[in-house]
Amino acid sequence: MNHYTGAVPDTQRLVDWRTFGACRAVDPDLFFPNPGDTRGIEAAQQICATCPVPARMACLTEALREEGGRQPSNRHGIRGGLTGTQRRSLYEKQRSRRKRAREQAAA
Ligand code: SF4
Repeated sequence: MNHYTGAVPDTQRLVDWRTFGACRAVDPDLFFPNPGDTRGIEAAQQICATCPVPARMACLTEALREEGGRQPSNRHGIRGGLTGTQRRSLYEKQRSRRKRAREQAAA
């Protein structure tokens, strides 16, 4: 006889996107080129471009969430295929979009 014990059933385990990242097999230092190192930045972005889209999107989303409104100088490395400056720009665009949506909803 089976009795419900209150235990959480063994459901599908959460999959960590990091296990699918294209960067998992390369030197992490590649993702922290010096500012102005165009070749280094491009090399890292080329690796990100080969990352499975869901992993890349999750990586970028997490970076944006962690970094919040930080200035580009406080956003380190290439994450989700973007530099710190590019992530800051995306953050500002998303913030503006959310603000407009709130204003339109309130109108
Ligand atoms: S997008 Fe993120 S997870 Fe994918 S290779 Fe680039 S840094 Fe790694």
